[in-house]
Amino acid sequence: MVDRLVNSEANARRISMVENCFGSSGQPLAVPGRVLVGEGVLTKVCRKRPKPRQFFLFNDILVYGNIVINKKKYNKQHIIPLEEVKLESLEDDGQLRNGWLIRTASKSFAVYAATSTEKQEWMAHINKCIEDLLRKSGKKAVAEHAAVWVPDSEAAVCMHCKKNQFTVLNRRHHCRKCGAVVCGPCSNKRYLLPNQSSKPLRVCLNCYDELSLQKMMNNSTAYKSDQMVSADSSGEEDSDEDDENNRSQQSFSEATVEQVNIVYILKTILTNIYNDLVS
Ligand SMILES: [Zn+2]
Ligand SMILES: [Zn+2]
Repeated sequence: MVDRLVNSEANARRISMVENCFGSSGQPLAVPGRVLVGEGVLTKVCRKRPKPRQFFLFNDILVYGNIVINKKKYNKQHIIPLEEVKLESLEDDGQLRNGWLIRTASKSFAVYAATSTEKQEWMAHINKCIEDLLRKSGKKAVAEHAAVWVPDSEAAVCMHCKKNQFTVLNRRHHCRKCGAVVCGPCSNKRYLLPNQSSKPLRVCLNCYDELSLQKMMNNSTAYKSDQMVSADSSGEEDSDEDDENNRSQQSFSEATVEQVNIVYILKTILTNIYNDLVS
């Protein structure tokens, strides 16, 4: 069906309508070979609460945005290349029904459809587009995906120390590696996650330890092969506002992070040797 629509006037008209709805806040979407496969409203789980978003499935990208005026005006456009996408069905859980995860290397999140039929249709169409794309390009599906952020409301206390209670002053932070909601002291380290950003990002102490160990075990060449360009790096509504400030104050160079890691690993090894001697 997609192939039949490629050069059709109806397809061109529909794509230009989507462009018009985003106006100057969006990117040009008309590209040779691109087909608008479907569109609809899905509820996207954001940091604070689930929000309705207009989604457009093209044969090569998934586009979504905030609804300003239904069917007329959208903004905050996000574009996700489908080649990077992996879907994961979610079990129904109370009010949250007909959901699935949209996972990419740089960002992952949950969406919910109104009915189970809609869910099945969305998932089948997206998966079909991904399959066709990968088959045409001969590329492999992306193996590593960004963590899905735990919504703020699901954590009253820090998920790492299990002690620190969140308040207006004691703010929630998200580990960029595992998505857990953690307190400041339990996420005072930064680590370079090349799929998500060129700058070191906030990680929890667990992930920091794990990543440091992994890095020590992998040689540096294996690590460099991870570097991928992230196409959807905006995600403004999902970011820790105060992280922006922290990041600029603490934007370590890669070398500094490496040095810190080596010192940390040495410390860990020494502690282990000491423990062995004492016990
Ligand atoms: Zn904590
Ligand atoms: Zn973590």
